[in-house]
Amino acid sequence: MKSVIPKKKSKYLNPDTEWKTIPLENVFSPSKMGLLPNGGSIIGGNICPNDKGKIFTLSNTCGFDSLLQLLGHTLRNLTEHQEGIEPVIHLALELTKNNYIGKTVLNSRLNILRNIFPTEDLPNNVVRINCDCNVVQTVQKLNVRSVVEKRICTNQNCPEKVKELSFSTILLQFHNESINHLQTKIDQYVHFESANQICTGKVDNKKCNGNLIYQKLYGPLHILSFSYSTDKNQKYPNEYLNCTLSEIPNIVEINKKTLMLRGIVSYNPPLNGISALGHYICYAKRSHLYWEVHDDLNKKIKSVRSSTSVAVVLMLILVNENAYST
Ligand SMILES: [Zn+2]
Repeated sequence: MKSVIPKKKSKYLNPDTEWKTIPLENVFSPSKMGLLPNGGSIIGGNICPNDKGKIFTLSNTCGFDSLLQLLGHTLRNLTEHQEGIEPVIHLALELTKNNYIGKTVLNSRLNILRNIFPTEDLPNNVVRINCDCNVVQTVQKLNVRSVVEKRICTNQNCPEKVKELSFSTILLQFHNESINHLQTKIDQYVHFESANQICTGKVDNKKCNGNLIYQKLYGPLHILSFSYSTDKNQKYPNEYLNCTLSEIPNIVEINKKTLMLRGIVSYNPPLNGISALGHYICYAKRSHLYWEVHDDLNKKIKSVRSSTSVAVVLMLILVNENAYST
């Protein structure tokens, strides 16, 4: 009989510092949250009396579902996010309560989808909701905010002294660079300031001419979106940022705060030109070594090797580690 060498457990019992704020069982056991199914039909009467007799059929929900799975995965340890929240955040939290998907979750999903995607009345009381989307645009429609940019005019009399613009994602533009440049790209984003801009507003019917100062304010959720092109002069991004899961950094720093990466939404382009549809998949990070895949075409959340190539990284979500403290 072979002698059994006990496995060294300490490595796993002592999580890396960046994971210290997450309860251990949440890092090493499989996710206990539900997995949304792609598409499906719902009889509408339960949601709203006006929908009585209507049958809603959903198609291609993978973009929205991947985003939801990722938000759920990210938010499940948060305590701060639970009040005064957008419907999508509320739904993401609902998703984490059971490991099956109940009617409440499916009905809330329908209510969100019908507001952001086109609906089409078909015969026999069927309403089709086509959820084909660019997932980045979907985030914008959901009013999730990653950054608020404050524009301040130095002229005290300016009627537009402070103007606020919200951005749902932090857009990082890659040109022929790898995911290893993530921190550099984030730093460029954080430090980018529109140099020497003069206010074009009017004060007493004259040009304001005040100097504009920009400030970026970051929330607890950071959603990064990526565009990728091989050529810097390319007007529209034409490719995707490819990498393996293991190449994606564990932590990054945004505005001097250390943040944990919680997962990505990856896009598989269509295999051939004939089928126009690709497929979005969520990869959620459970520890510095362990990833799992939330694919709405699968029945279960499954663990996945970190050597897995993600055909495209469209989005990463990070949470401020302070947001975990109670
Ligand atoms: Zn001004």
